Amino acid sequence: MLHKFEWRKPDGRAWIQYSRAPFAKDHQPTAAGLVRPGTWTPPHLRWNAMRGEFVSISASRQDRPFLPPREYCPLCPTTPLADGTQLDTEVPHGVGNYEWAVFENMFPGLSLSGETPTGKCEVVLYSPRHDSTLAREPLSQIEGLVHVWQDRCKEISRDPNIEFVFPFENKGTEVGVTLHHPHGQIYAFNHLPPFIKNEHLAAQAHFEKNKQCLICSLTENELKDKNRIVFEGQEIVAFIPFAARYPYEVHITTRAHRPLLQQLTPSECRELSIALKTILMKYDALFGFPMPYIMAHHQAAARDENCSHYHWHIEIYPPYRTAQKLKYLAGVESGTGFFINDTYPEEKAAELRKIEVDIGSFDF
Ligand SMILES: [Zn+2]
Ligand SMILES: [Zn+2]
Ligand SMILES: [Zn+2]
Repeated sequence: MLHKFEWRKPDGRAWIQYSRAPFAKDHQPTAAGLVRPGTWTPPHLRWNAMRGEFVSISASRQDRPFLPPREYCPLCPTTPLADGTQLDTEVPHGVGNYEWAVFENMFPGLSLSGETPTGKCEVVLYSPRHDSTLAREPLSQIEGLVHVWQDRCKEISRDPNIEFVFPFENKGTEVGVTLHHPHGQIYAFNHLPPFIKNEHLAAQAHFEKNKQCLICSLTENELKDKNRIVFEGQEIVAFIPFAARYPYEVHITTRAHRPLLQQLTPSECRELSIALKTILMKYDALFGFPMPYIMAHHQAAARDENCSHYHWHIEIYPPYRTAQKLKYLAGVESGTGFFINDTYPEEKAAELRKIEVDIGSFDF
């Protein structure tokens, strides 16, 4: 298990640091690093009656005053300059080279501090290595990240205001990333967001008809069919779904029924790190450049550990169709939500299966 150090910045935002070894007794930040301006106002939700969904009005995000100069990264550990001073980053001064860390977003799209608590947003630092990516991190670092995700999901769900916890990652400029340091985010909602609500409704209908969890059924079918499997482990399975919306869309899930991410056993977490590294390395090898993607964790509602109709899974959407062609969400996709995939998932899965990658070992 990882050791944990929790601290609050003077602006009230949490800084949570994780480590393999216990923290020294005197482990304490000497300065906060970047802090939120006093002019910040929390976001609020507005009901979009036409779409039947909430929209976050987060106007404070517009005047982010601390846009960092290009040459330094706000997610890197602070390092002393030649004159002995340190630049402010999100990492507090004096905490050394973190292994994994989590902090609250400076300008969150959801916040517990408004008039109505709407949720919370955290940033998850995957690694202190600025030029790395999740695919390039050693297995043990990825396994540690899975434990960090679990710990945050468990902690965040304790708040009765929170109805859904959503770890995710945007990777690559193609999907709008501005900071290249390997990191992801966690959004915690006071309601089920639209896509999740839809999946839950579909899963409930499936359960009523078949008396089985939808994700369990789909995974069993994929394992029987074999044609779309990309990774087949003892406990973790990954495949391109039968009706994938993106050519290289991969879903990862457990063979066992696990409604929430924090319910994965240590050995499932270990195999998940193997599956993640394998798939992300295959993506990078596919076109010979680091593949951009969106990675989304879907799970049961917060605290619904006995949910019988739905279970945790990861969905990854890489935006490329070929080495040169991006799949844009154009008129039909954006205007109607109807997707056209111009590839066979079976062929794309065979392509990914064929790529051999060396994921290394757990000891490094
Ligand atoms: Zn960095
Ligand atoms: Zn299930
Ligand atoms: Zn899903």
